[in-house]
Amino acid sequence: MAEARTAGRASSEPRACTACGAGALRAWRTVRGSDPALPGDYDLARCQACGSAVTLAPAPAAAHEEGAYGSGAPRGAPLAMPLLRAFDRHRLALLDRAGARPPGRLLDVGAGRGRFVAHASAAGWAADGIEPSRRGVEGARALGVELQQAGIEDAAVAPGSLDVVSLWHVLEHLDDPASALERIAGWLRPGGLLVVGVPNLGSVQALVGSGGWYHLDVPRHRTHFTVAGLHALLRRHGLEPVATHHVLAEHNPFGLWQSLVSRFTRTPSWLYHALKRNAPLRSRDAVVTLVALPLAPVAVVAELAFALARRGGAVAVVARRAA
Ligand SMILES: [Zn+2]
Repeated sequence: MAEARTAGRASSEPRACTACGAGALRAWRTVRGSDPALPGDYDLARCQACGSAVTLAPAPAAAHEEGAYGSGAPRGAPLAMPLLRAFDRHRLALLDRAGARPPGRLLDVGAGRGRFVAHASAAGWAADGIEPSRRGVEGARALGVELQQAGIEDAAVAPGSLDVVSLWHVLEHLDDPASALERIAGWLRPGGLLVVGVPNLGSVQALVGSGGWYHLDVPRHRTHFTVAGLHALLRRHGLEPVATHHVLAEHNPFGLWQSLVSRFTRTPSWLYHALKRNAPLRSRDAVVTLVALPLAPVAVVAELAFALARRGGAVAVVARRAA
């Protein structure tokens, strides 16, 4: 246990901010691992310039294979499908509003089991995906979607060949988001669009949730972006933000409600982990969660208000590659 508790503690070497690249990082706070399968304390440092934060210690090698990211379908997965399709439609709608419409070439980076690739294909895009995990690629194949098994650093994508890249809740998982964006910017044609979704450390729910914020996901999340940090990172790679969206049904209302409930449960984000078969169903946390269910509509309205004040729990930025 002593080893686990110190697993995420920082070394003392100074580092530059992985978001804006400019600011100095200062020790900020120590938080518990967000997943019951990844226990221990993790040191975070915060950028003095853009307010983004960094998880200092590396993530365990198998962090993306364990716990909530383990194999097996979540409980109630078939019930969630219509909702997930609506979220995919919304992601395409954000692109449409920025002027990107099919036909054209679209790449989903970190495509998971290929659901968005299938949706974009059906909408008329020539859509492909890259995904580093074999489990994702095999899951996609079972759905009839052929993904390239590769990470950003080793994917085979022709320079300037893409009209659109989707980078949806991926960037925060990367140790070196700058080199990833450098490559992605090179894949886009001049004038091509990137849609990038990340949790927003500058949100009200990040403040409310504190070390138990639903979207903190330490140690898997390496950079905890603010909008200022994300914009600075994009601009450094010739990607000019053209729209920043805070009203996102996919991640935000649940994130606020779950972050509030986590203040009273032993396992942070108990409902999420129970659905992922990563926390016991019969527990005191189940009772607390049940009692808090009637608060869900309140969280929806509150999160909408915060999002309209540009303090949404996650943001989606559409950025254009310089012509
Ligand atoms: Zn910074």
